Amino acid sequence: MIKSSELDPNFKYEISKEPGGENIKKCFNCTGCTVGCPVTEIDKSYNPRMILRKSLLGMRKEVLTDDSIWLCASCYICFERCPQDVKITEVVGAIRAIALREARAGNIKIKNTKPVFDNLFIDSVRSNGRWYEAGVSGTFMLKTKGVGGAIGYAPMGLALFKKGKLSILPHKIKGTDEIKRIFEEVSTK
Ligand code: SF4
Ligand code: SF4
Repeated sequence: MIKSSELDPNFKYEISKEPGGENIKKCFNCTGCTVGCPVTEIDKSYNPRMILRKSLLGMRKEVLTDDSIWLCASCYICFERCPQDVKITEVVGAIRAIALREARAGNIKIKNTKPVFDNLFIDSVRSNGRWYEAGVSGTFMLKTKGVGGAIGYAPMGLALFKKGKLSILPHKIKGTDEIKRIFEEVSTK
């Protein structure tokens, strides 16, 4: 049930100010994005049209705490199909950016573990110029599943290591200073 007293009419403007969120107000709710979405095809809890509709209605908290906003696979099929030129992938990215800020401020809790993985991945690329599989995967398991969970994945890691598919130490690329400079340029923090 929608409670008008809980709606935030400014939410759509907040999203449209984020990079990629500009066209959200052009959505006329046609469902073209959802019928072509490969994620919706395997998980009906993910519905991009619904996310946009709720956002336009001002259901800010419900959208920002919706676990499904982390399911988008960024394939851009929806953008190809949208008659209104709404960059749904980037609108979802804008919503995620707002959710992360709100979580950092302690205003909401994010249950999904994708942001944890994304941050570890980005830190790894910032430091090494590429992702350090053993370090990122191990830390991710520890942070999301605890020591017991991480130990449970150890045999798989060991098997990959024995086959030469996983390196214990990170491999840095040449020119990591350039990578750090790119991060500094695009950092929005
Ligand atoms: S295809 Fe475009 S206009 Fe149609 S519901 Fe999706 S975002 Fe809105
Ligand atoms: S970009 Fe996201 S919302 Fe769009 S079709 Fe792909 S998975 Fe679905």
